[in-house]
Amino acid sequence: MFSNTEIGIDLGTANTLVYSKNKGIVLNEPSVVAIDTETKTVLAVGLEAKSMIGKTPGNIVAVRPLKDGVIADFDVTTQMLKQIMKKAGKKLGFSIRKPNVVVCTPSGSTSVERRAIHDAVKSCGAKHVHLIEEPVAAAIGADLPVDEPIANVVVDIGGGTTEVAIISFGGVVSCNSIRIGGDQLDEDIVQFVRKKYNLLIGERTAEQIKVEIAYALVKHEELSMEVRGRDLVTGLPKTITLRSFEIQDAIKESLLHILEAIRATLEDCPPELSGDIVDQGVILTGGGALLNGIQEWLSNEIVVPVHIAPNPLESVAIGTGRSLEVIHKLQKAAR
Ligand code: ADP
Ligand code: MG
Repeated sequence: MFSNTEIGIDLGTANTLVYSKNKGIVLNEPSVVAIDTETKTVLAVGLEAKSMIGKTPGNIVAVRPLKDGVIADFDVTTQMLKQIMKKAGKKLGFSIRKPNVVVCTPSGSTSVERRAIHDAVKSCGAKHVHLIEEPVAAAIGADLPVDEPIANVVVDIGGGTTEVAIISFGGVVSCNSIRIGGDQLDEDIVQFVRKKYNLLIGERTAEQIKVEIAYALVKHEELSMEVRGRDLVTGLPKTITLRSFEIQDAIKESLLHILEAIRATLEDCPPELSGDIVDQGVILTGGGALLNGIQEWLSNEIVVPVHIAPNPLESVAIGTGRSLEVIHKLQKAAR
């Protein structure tokens, strides 16, 4: 029934990835679209569009159509998806002709949105289109034995959302999704710098600060970093030095919300599966898994082993691309 050209698309709030079974990750670009507001045309998608954020003249806006984990602007999302299919098609050459496509959609998307994503991909030349739940894709991509009747716990910390799910025998047993992820940490840093130093920094600068000197709530040797922004009093550019301890404090509350979501999901776990969690622990995927100290912090807090997926930023895309195999296997086993 399925041809061997299968690709998976991870339509993430921060990054969109395309994975092909034969070639691995063939595309990995920010989920950003640059639009000319006068002509309503799409000028660029992905990396090129991201580099325009906060730097464009009035009539050009760079938007992240999936920013908060729901599809804010449907037309723009569809256009982005089309461009992505086109780019991936070029890289894969003929092999992408009539591929079977599996798309991982944000869990906040409605059935209408899911239908529309399905149709958009189909209109780009896909033969069959399947949609998959994000935590299941993350678990498959992280090499967890999702087709076995044991509890697999996945915590995916993306840009717009954090998803926590317990998966067993190919399905989601219990899950929680909160609209706090890497973007919120960036926002926390922007607000902190504004309040404490009267300095306005952009979201890309905040992201750099996070990647370089932000820590989860663990002890560490203090780091510092020079940062430039606009002084809110004088209106002029200014440079300050930020320390990792103050940044840790700035993101604390958001991290505690993430911890709370993980705890709530674990408490929901059917007792028969609890034993598995004590043995197997929890696996972290998504870009947030790369935050300094997060593994140590979470394992101290939830007292079960915490692992980081081999390529946390790619787990969902890989799992999406491989999911058809797993689905076939499960269908066979059910017969
Ligand atoms: P999504 O699936 O929502 O598109 P991703 O899984 O691609 O999200 O993760 C993107 C988020 O991960 C962004 O908020 C980004 O800033 C964050 N991120 C990426 N690398 C790191 C890092 N080294 N440390 C902390 N956060 C990171
Ligand atoms: Mg994701």
